[in-house]
Amino acid sequence: MAEETHSDPLANPLVIDTHVHPKMGAEALLTEMDSAGVQRAVLLAVETDPNDLRDPERLRQTRFRFFRTPEARRIFWSEIEAVMLQKLTPKVTNQVAAELAAAHPDRFIGLGSANLGKDPASVENHLQEIERLGLRGIKLLPFAQFFDPATSENFLRACAWCEATGRVILLHTGCGAPPWDARAFSEDAHPDRLRPALEKYHQVPIILAHLGSYSKDEPGIWFEEALQLGKDYPNVYGDLAAVAWLVEQEWRVERMRETIGFKRILFASDYPAVANQVSVRYMIDLVRNSPYLEVDEKLDILGRNAARLFGIDAVI
Ligand SMILES: [Zn+2]
Repeated sequence: MAEETHSDPLANPLVIDTHVHPKMGAEALLTEMDSAGVQRAVLLAVETDPNDLRDPERLRQTRFRFFRTPEARRIFWSEIEAVMLQKLTPKVTNQVAAELAAAHPDRFIGLGSANLGKDPASVENHLQEIERLGLRGIKLLPFAQFFDPATSENFLRACAWCEATGRVILLHTGCGAPPWDARAFSEDAHPDRLRPALEKYHQVPIILAHLGSYSKDEPGIWFEEALQLGKDYPNVYGDLAAVAWLVEQEWRVERMRETIGFKRILFASDYPAVANQVSVRYMIDLVRNSPYLEVDEKLDILGRNAARLFGIDAVI
């Protein structure tokens, strides 16, 4: 950060974007970050496998959920299945995230991903790969990796491993992006599914991506449940990816303040998966200009909390 002192601490604040999908390569991403005033971005790998949907048990479960959605009345299962298979093809591997982070260590922090729906040996291999590549944690996507955090042995394994190696978990909560945008498909991404693991693991930071609130049809769907989880467990954080609009509503800001608190809320964009093509700058300004947040709370959300969490000593 520049050394000059501004009378307005929000004129040029530290901004760390904790949720970015680097599908576009380093240069385009750095251009967007520079124009938005983002100093650092946390880049997420997503480990998925289209073959998972060919597993008879997972296929049965996914079909069962599909037929409880409103779409089931007007869309054929085969159409949904085709989109799912295509979306499950991995785009950002652990290797890609690690290479980007290594090429720009002053701008990028890399998180890997492990498909927890796989057998334990495969999960163990992925965790070792993440460690070897120097990635700082793992991104998990329960509905697309076909695991339920409340019952998955692999999820407990991942929590134990992150706790032992000083890594963080960033886990999608709320509804998924299409075609997982119906409540029925996203049950495994309900914040309460984390309670059994949180009863056992008190150290590993677990970031609830989207603060349980992302949903096309029911925005704010599990907002209250996410806040309660943060209130109950001090190692729970929340990111504002795709839901920065939460800070535009006074009652939601008050609920956040009296439950999880603003020391554990992280600015995040979900770039480039951003609804209506809004810019990262626009999302930063929602926080910066919110009439309901104190200046210190804004500075914490925008960058100071993430700096503390990821051990970045740009600020004290
Ligand atoms: Zn995302």
